[in-house]
Amino acid sequence: MKNLKPYSENSFAFFETVVKKKRNEDLKDRLDLIKSDIQTKFNDYDTHFQKNILESLSEHDKFSKQQIEDFEELYSYKSATFKKLLITLSTSDNKRKMGCPYCGIGEVSTFDHYLPQSRFGAFTTHPKNLICCCGKCNPKRGNRWLDANKKRATLNLYLDILPDVQFLFVEIDIMIDKVETKFSLKNSGNINPILFSMIDSHYDRLELCDRFSENSSDIITSFVNTIKTYQNLGNFDSILKNTLEALSKDQNAFGYNHWSTILKIELIKHKDFKLLLKY
Ligand SMILES: [Zn+2]
Repeated sequence: MKNLKPYSENSFAFFETVVKKKRNEDLKDRLDLIKSDIQTKFNDYDTHFQKNILESLSEHDKFSKQQIEDFEELYSYKSATFKKLLITLSTSDNKRKMGCPYCGIGEVSTFDHYLPQSRFGAFTTHPKNLICCCGKCNPKRGNRWLDANKKRATLNLYLDILPDVQFLFVEIDIMIDKVETKFSLKNSGNINPILFSMIDSHYDRLELCDRFSENSSDIITSFVNTIKTYQNLGNFDSILKNTLEALSKDQNAFGYNHWSTILKIELIKHKDFKLLLKY
């Protein structure tokens, strides 16, 4: 899980670029007639975004079924304009392409519409409503964005600043023929309860803890193989100490809740870790 920088240029200008690239002239004419309404909606989104009160935006008001269909037709994550946006939003300051900011497992390949397309058609192409993610996280988040109390049920990685303390933990069970992992969340660092509840609901929605466990095996195998190689080079205890130091630097770089870093740290600290190095 990683915070992202939102689109920094003019949101409505992006919309106009998308429209300009379309070849369907009827669609363009229809959209031209409601241009000022769309601009007002976009400005409204920007204001709510800036104040972090997206939950008070109203759904499809004013727009007809045809207009909603037109908004949907504008969006295609495979088109050149959206591909370019995806690259911009998923490239970090040091020019590196990021992994999926939701799960940290998959590659960024698509956009999640934070306010769902089915209810907020006008924002289908609003660049601040688009969150880059992988193809597994996108459908899992789905259309649910408010809970029963009308509070946001999933995090907005542009707006909800992730706490700088560990909330993701893993229990590891090392057996002769396999290693089992169980990831869970715990608010042991005095995280604001409202924020923690949203983090918890977000992880639950995206089934992140189960997906981390399912993906643990490759990380463990590769990590154990690396340690085995180092093992032949010198004093075992100092190898473990140096590896832990490197992992702590990874935490500084990738955050305190990067699942595979947490997994490696707990592995190395595990009382039975040496058993894994025998085979
Ligand atoms: Zn993902």
